[in-house]
Amino acid sequence: MFEGYAGTSDSGFRDEVEAEDALARGQYLADMSTDGDRPALSGPAGAEAEARLAEFARQAVFDGQVVTDEVRLRRIVARHDPHLYPGTFLTCVYNPDRALCRTPSGPAQTPLMADCQPLACRNAALTTDNRQALERHLASLDTALAGGEGLAPYVRHRLQEQRHETASFLTRHTPEPTP
Ligand code: SF4
Repeated sequence: MFEGYAGTSDSGFRDEVEAEDALARGQYLADMSTDGDRPALSGPAGAEAEARLAEFARQAVFDGQVVTDEVRLRRIVARHDPHLYPGTFLTCVYNPDRALCRTPSGPAQTPLMADCQPLACRNAALTTDNRQALERHLASLDTALAGGEGLAPYVRHRLQEQRHETASFLTRHTPEPTP
């Protein structure tokens, strides 16, 4: 519904929404880069996420402070967008060449988060919040399976598959505890 409204009635509206999203994302990422207590991102693209954050901080952070002037920050994001997209279950470290959400005819500039394949895509990185969200998802699958006496065999099988994939992913990408 939003797509139709933004796409047909006023294309300038879409640009405005995207610019606001980019600014909010830039502020979030710049804040993240200044958090010295933050555990490093893990996951397939965790190291790349950290490298992009560090590079972005070189542009958007001065003397440990994020640029507060909105016009300036907008300009910085426009020129030095790290193309990191925070989500609930993952942080997308967007690289179109390996994006599983992309279709040949779709736009290349941004990920299609609604079609994300978080457990399979090499663009996925995990913050602590992302990992906790995946752990909650795993627990909800356990609950559904434990109480699912009457589940249809196909549904039970799909839930078991999801459980296995989620647990394996978390095992593979849980960082070693710091000594
Ligand atoms: S599938 Fe997910 S992680 Fe991969 S590029 Fe798309 S949104 Fe990012």
